[in-house]
Amino acid sequence: MWSELMDHLCPQLDTAFTASFAALPRLAEIATAASPETLGEVLSAAGAIASCSPGLSEPDSPLTVFSAPIEVLHDLTDRRLSQTAEAEEYVNLLQALLSFEGVEIWDRSLDGLHTGEYEVDCPYCGVNVFVVIGQDDRFCCTDDYALQAVQKSPLQPARRQQLEGLPRRLFARALADGQEGLAHGVRYLFGRAACPNCGTDFSVAERVMAGWIP
Ligand SMILES: [Zn+2]
Repeated sequence: MWSELMDHLCPQLDTAFTASFAALPRLAEIATAASPETLGEVLSAAGAIASCSPGLSEPDSPLTVFSAPIEVLHDLTDRRLSQTAEAEEYVNLLQALLSFEGVEIWDRSLDGLHTGEYEVDCPYCGVNVFVVIGQDDRFCCTDDYALQAVQKSPLQPARRQQLEGLPRRLFARALADGQEGLAHGVRYLFGRAACPNCGTDFSVAERVMAGWIP
């Protein structure tokens, strides 16, 4: 029933309508009354809707119009995060938290931290580069590493001290919530890679942002 409702409110989780935003106050009520078993789902759904909103700088942004229920959803998400152990759900909630704050791009681009992969293009030669941020193995390559042996180029994670702003916050938050694997993934996501094809050194996060299609 829940997924059917979301098909209407937020198809593919990336399209929202006036009625979707208008449902945020009701979703805040549902979330406030939700059991621990369903709370994560409700918050992720509301986060998906919020992430479709025009930014806070837009006149009459739904994030401003519905700021009261969004604050409720944000607080519930903030608390729920600290109680969530499963990495995929944790990343979904972290993205929802950013959506409620109006953070763009990263509210939809953290999935790779739990799937273990980002696909970007080299800023110099344009070749497609897989950036693999797994629990055990971290590298980049140009061919599908799942299908064949590939030439792996090392990644250079950001040092903790180098992290600032949002990356610093994501790292510290994941660490504080016991998500060490994700926290270290953040260092790789905001670190550097060298193109296996042409050797050009680039920022992984900048290429993720460059490839972002709203
Ligand atoms: Zn290249």
